[in-house]
Amino acid sequence: MEGKLRVAIVGAGPVGSLAALYAANRGHSVEIYELRGDLRDPSTIPLNFTKSINLALSERGLNAMRHADQPNLVENVLAATIPMRGRMIHRRTAAGALCEEPQDYDPVHGNAILAIDRGGLNKRLLDILEAMPNVKFFFNHKLTGADFKQNKAWFEVRENGSSRNPGDRREIEISFDLMLGCDGAHSAVRYHMMKFTQMDYQQTYVPALWCEFQIKPKESAPDENPMSRYRISPNHLHIWPAKEFMFIAIPGEGGAFVCTLFAPPWVYSKLESDPTALLIPFFDEHFPGVTQLIPPEELISSFQQNPHLPLISIKCKPYHYGSSVVILGDAAHAMVPFYGQGMNAGLESVRILFDILDKHARMDELLSPDSKFAVESRARALEEYTAIRVPDAHAINDMALNNYEEMRAKVLSRKYLLRKWLEEK
Ligand code: FAD
Repeated sequence: MEGKLRVAIVGAGPVGSLAALYAANRGHSVEIYELRGDLRDPSTIPLNFTKSINLALSERGLNAMRHADQPNLVENVLAATIPMRGRMIHRRTAAGALCEEPQDYDPVHGNAILAIDRGGLNKRLLDILEAMPNVKFFFNHKLTGADFKQNKAWFEVRENGSSRNPGDRREIEISFDLMLGCDGAHSAVRYHMMKFTQMDYQQTYVPALWCEFQIKPKESAPDENPMSRYRISPNHLHIWPAKEFMFIAIPGEGGAFVCTLFAPPWVYSKLESDPTALLIPFFDEHFPGVTQLIPPEELISSFQQNPHLPLISIKCKPYHYGSSVVILGDAAHAMVPFYGQGMNAGLESVRILFDILDKHARMDELLSPDSKFAVESRARALEEYTAIRVPDAHAINDMALNNYEEMRAKVLSRKYLLRKWLEEK
């Protein structure tokens, strides 16, 4: 990449943190602006997530970390993952007995996807960045405006992390050579970029809400094998498919599972009307065995206390403006979680962007060191990034939407569906 740039990263989620690492390892001066407090501070409440959620990390995301030129990053990340070699489908047999049906992802080679704590991965990246002399953090800084012709942006600084008292707020102006907008699905960078470029933008709320639950570990003696603390197989992504809705469980460290109920808003409305009376019969009817893994009172309190959140799918184009700004991750291509690829695709976007910037930088070195030329060349690199990344990101987005039906209905084996159908005749 030409010269050393002032790179402003907006958003210190997994995508912004990896993008900061790529930029810092190229010697740029990196400033990371994050709306919330430091995730590593226990008093910081994660946006949208009540607790830290477990995600599926796949080769797409791992490969992006492998290319970050950061010694031991992948090894450290892998050490904190749990391989899930397939799905485990939970259902009742025709005779009414509880039944688990494993469906391996790769029966031939045994490849697995990996369960990882999203917060843990994020913190690991922040720790690495903190030790780098060319990286500066600005927590409690909210992007409120940007001029991508003048390469200036404005942030509201929330003293003590508070936004309630106007007296606690002030505004700062910054300048930059390149801004990377990694500020999630409701991206402010994208919003301000729209004023400078003719962006096609499509946002869809899918008719499903999600809420988080937890299966707690079994009590065990300190000298017992930690794997014995899992109440169900730790090496599977567990699914209770119920056609119109589903419940899933992803293993976490120490024997716990983070679970999610995905269901249409009308189901949530019904259950919200009287959770104490309705929730347990609903689970017993549709998600057999769950009330034996999560005590009914915990199930009800999680449903009452944890937020019921929507799922958004975003497609837009272009991802950049001129030579000064590019959006990455959920800011550019938020997708529904049913394909387990939102974060993975965001991390992959970082790798692809820097591959293209590097390629153009190598070509520039051969041609001219002139700085005007360098800016034009960066604009060409960003244009190439949009051209290459948009069709792929849109395709992953569509696949994620299609996989909702696959997970909540099609995973039921044909044999099972046939038997059910015959029973109903
Ligand atoms: P975010 O994680 O949203 O981070 C954006 C950051 O920007 C935040 O820290 C925010 O505070 C900050 N910010 C926002 N606005 C501003 C502003 N104005 N100024 C400054 N900072 C700002 N993905 C997978 O790959 N695998 C999975 O299994 C998976 N499961 C999921 C399950 C659920 C239920 C959900 C909801 C999502 C799942 N995802 C999964 C998707 C994944 O969580 C996202 O794709 C990923 O978190 C996107 O990372 P990001 O860094 O782009 O954005």
